[in-house]
Amino acid sequence: MPPPDVPPPDVEAILGSLRAFAIPMTTKFRGITVREGALIQGPAGWGEFSPFAEYGPRESARWLASALEAATAGFPAPVRDQVPVNVTVPAVPAARAHEIAAGSGCRTAKIKVAERGQSDADDIARVEAVRDALGPDGKVRVDVNGRWDVAHATRMLAELDRFGLEYAEQPCATLEEMAEVRRAVRVPLAADESIRRAEDPLRVRAAGAADIVVLKVQPLGGVRAALRIAEACGLPVVVSSAVDTSVGLAAGVALAAALPELPYACGLGTMSLLTGDVTAAPLAPAHGALPVRRPSVSPEHLARWEADPGPWRDRAAAAARFLAIAEGGGRAGGGSAGGGAW
Ligand SMILES: [Mg+2]
Repeated sequence: MPPPDVPPPDVEAILGSLRAFAIPMTTKFRGITVREGALIQGPAGWGEFSPFAEYGPRESARWLASALEAATAGFPAPVRDQVPVNVTVPAVPAARAHEIAAGSGCRTAKIKVAERGQSDADDIARVEAVRDALGPDGKVRVDVNGRWDVAHATRMLAELDRFGLEYAEQPCATLEEMAEVRRAVRVPLAADESIRRAEDPLRVRAAGAADIVVLKVQPLGGVRAALRIAEACGLPVVVSSAVDTSVGLAAGVALAAALPELPYACGLGTMSLLTGDVTAAPLAPAHGALPVRRPSVSPEHLARWEADPGPWRDRAAAAARFLAIAEGGGRAGGGSAGGGAW
């Protein structure tokens, strides 16, 4: 058992500082139109605690551990000062996809495919348009959100590979299907929805299900926990957000900045999904990258989105009872946490 990263915080006192927010989203994700969560403040700064509504206290304990790390210990030293990010191209018509990619300033695009009600031809046209927008040096990846079966994934990835795919994110729902597709196609695969708990990256690797793992800081219990998981797994990491405010994004940036290797652009350019932020200096990408910094919370901005802290204090207090389990290896979660749709 490694030594604890964080001195035992006075959780009760820190939870007394808890402030809640509710920020409308620009795009509906996971069926939600308002991102709700809480911020806590400690000697090292602010931390974000924003588990989705369906997560119970055991699962939420890792999200709380992440917030407490930010508030009480801060982040490990960075090894880079910029984190490249991808633009996300939703399942829009090809002409619009071209505009989004061309206007993003990013050299990497993640294209949503397999949207319900759309055809393979729609997906192919969208990928072709984005490749055209970024030119031959751009990186193009697709995100399937687990919606293809093995035959469909094998056929489509072979077809789409003529546009030069960097990788395909979660082409199928299960590890077994992912492994089968991986054996059949040239395109590297990344696991996203398959990873919600500390032990999942190791399961992904053991199953031969992916070449790359997508990691999010909050559900894995903090930056240091995620670094340990990345090291144990040994596969290249793409750091992604859970549609956080800039406080949560800063933790994602800290993970991306501290990883020894960062071969792929990260999915941390998500600030544009929210209509507002809790800081005057949001972590929004410029020229396809985020600076490695921690924005300070602005009282005026926080006040604009402030919500009743009562329910969040209750959730945090309930989660705190499972903290020891979460910090003892991040195994507090039970069952599947459900698919993130970003
Ligand atoms: Mg994804």
